[in-house]
Amino acid sequence: MMSITIALSKGRIFDDTAPLLKAAGIVALDDPETSRKLILATNRDNVRLIIVRASDVPTYVQYGAADMGIAGKDVLLEHGGAGLYQPLDLNIARCRMMVAVRDDFDYESAVGRGARVRVATKYFQTAREHFAEKGMHVDLIKLYGSMELAPLVGLADAIVDLVSSGNTLKANHLKAVEEIRPISARLVINQAALKLKREIIQPMLDAFSAAIPQ
Ligand code: ATP
Ligand code: MG
Repeated sequence: MMSITIALSKGRIFDDTAPLLKAAGIVALDDPETSRKLILATNRDNVRLIIVRASDVPTYVQYGAADMGIAGKDVLLEHGGAGLYQPLDLNIARCRMMVAVRDDFDYESAVGRGARVRVATKYFQTAREHFAEKGMHVDLIKLYGSMELAPLVGLADAIVDLVSSGNTLKANHLKAVEEIRPISARLVINQAALKLKREIIQPMLDAFSAAIPQ
């Protein structure tokens, strides 16, 4: 029997994706937040979910270990998108990729006088492209999380991070100074799987597409 594996991460991606899956007639039989299982069966015996790190979703799909997945545009930009078909912006897990600095740091004048700005981020590729397009010289420092800390302890002048409400920035005496791009989660499909399993994948695509929140 032809079957489909869908890769997604727990937390906000799973929470926001569950209603879309439901619209496609797919319901997980376990809750990834409480279950320790990494492979979740669904009500459909030809569909299973695998729970992976958010930044690993494109890799599982690229290599065909998952036929499709749900990943943030932030993650897809860092991955590069090789081997992935990205047919749908799901309009979920929305936020903005921003440059932020300490609230006492004068970013405009640092940029204006051509100062070398130290930027800490987990979004190394996207940040590099952004500052190159602006013609800014920056020293990029790769981090894996808690970027907000870096300007507070002198590791960097600025960070590139995702912002939704801005409350985390505020709580850490930081301010957003530049938007790099809006971010939302996308459906990604392995290019070979799309051809070989079109009869299962296409109806799911149609159901997701009809259920995307406005
Ligand atoms: P990990 O926890 O494995 O290091 P992560 O922190 O990127 O990965 P999540 O916090 O679950 O994992 O984020 C998953 C995705 O949700 C991100 O790739 C991004 O697209 C989106 N996201 C992240 N932060 C926000 C936010 N504040 N508001 C809305 N969406 C967000
Ligand atoms: Mg996280």
